[in-house]
Amino acid sequence: MRKRTDNQKIYDYMIKNGFKFESDYGKADMIFIDTCAYCQMEEDNSVNAIQRCLDYKKESAQIIVLGCLPAINPLRLEQMGKLHCVPSGRFNELDKFIKPKIDYDSIPDNTKVRDFYSPFVKEGLNQKVGQNNLLGKYGYTGNDVNHVKVATGCLGNCSYCAIKLAWGKLKSRPLEDILKDFKRVIKNGAKEVTLEAHDLSSYGLDIDTNVVALLRGVFGVEGDYKLVLHDFNPLWLMHFYKELKEILVNNHQRIKYINIPVQSGSNRILKLMHRPYKIEQIKEMLSDLMQAAPSLWVLCDIMIGFPGETSEDFEETKMFVKEMGEKYKINYWFTKFSVRPNTEAEKMENKVDEKTKEERENALRMVLSSKAEPAVTVAAA
Ligand code: SF4
Repeated sequence: MRKRTDNQKIYDYMIKNGFKFESDYGKADMIFIDTCAYCQMEEDNSVNAIQRCLDYKKESAQIIVLGCLPAINPLRLEQMGKLHCVPSGRFNELDKFIKPKIDYDSIPDNTKVRDFYSPFVKEGLNQKVGQNNLLGKYGYTGNDVNHVKVATGCLGNCSYCAIKLAWGKLKSRPLEDILKDFKRVIKNGAKEVTLEAHDLSSYGLDIDTNVVALLRGVFGVEGDYKLVLHDFNPLWLMHFYKELKEILVNNHQRIKYINIPVQSGSNRILKLMHRPYKIEQIKEMLSDLMQAAPSLWVLCDIMIGFPGETSEDFEETKMFVKEMGEKYKINYWFTKFSVRPNTEAEKMENKVDEKTKEERENALRMVLSSKAEPAVTVAAA
């Protein structure tokens, strides 16, 4: 979700430099794998994809591993043998391999991004589909999705997070460039646009502007479209609440959903996570927002089994999910904590075992299963 424009840019970069897209890995001369490692499951999926390509590629083919895994867990890649690795945010280093006529940084961010999927995630492996027509085929759904890149990195210091190790500090794009891209996708008929960032609500704080100016600018563009607002950190939602409430309420029909990573209902756990807000503040703010815009679709991230999470802490999270889930149109992404290398949480004691995490996730699902609209849940190992 957070780097579709990068994938498209690499595709455009290769095509503009005279390369042809080959959907069969067995025939490809160069295979690019953009990896994710924000949790253990995504890291395993990425390693699976690399291993399958190593198994399937022709002798002379080069594999280039891109993205977060080279920055978050390089050791795991070293164990796989000699691989060309280009970490997130440094894709212009591809010029070294490609020796292009048009260098990477000269390729504009494309807002129309191909909706690729990798056939190498676990599900793909379990579906005993004929070797050739699954493994080795690069999945392009044929659809294009619209992403406008807003920023990379963040201002946070969350103790469990590896994303900041891969992307570093907040780097916001100039507002006029974002609005130019946005106007173009709407003029080209886009019905749904994702504003792409790792911490959307911190936008602009490094360039003397902010998310209020961003959303005022975007919603100032006339058109029949819906916005996807991902990774809207509640800290900055609270900081700019007065202005943001007005914008979200007045434009809620043009918001597909807003994703607000709350993470825990326990203030003790929020403190250990370095999430600088109290759950009471979140409840008050979300209640006020949902009363003002009842049909606004809110998706809250909840992390289960953070180190040291006691059953009392978990009960507080369950109460938050139950209370807010029953009163308002709030759905949830449940993610089970997984240790990320070189994070503060990696060194924390009292790790919660997998069985307990599973039980707690099921308990949260049960809390919501009585609701009319069951929660959206994602299990991350
Ligand atoms: S705000 Fe926290 S969770 Fe989000 S990217 Fe930054 S450090 Fe990671």
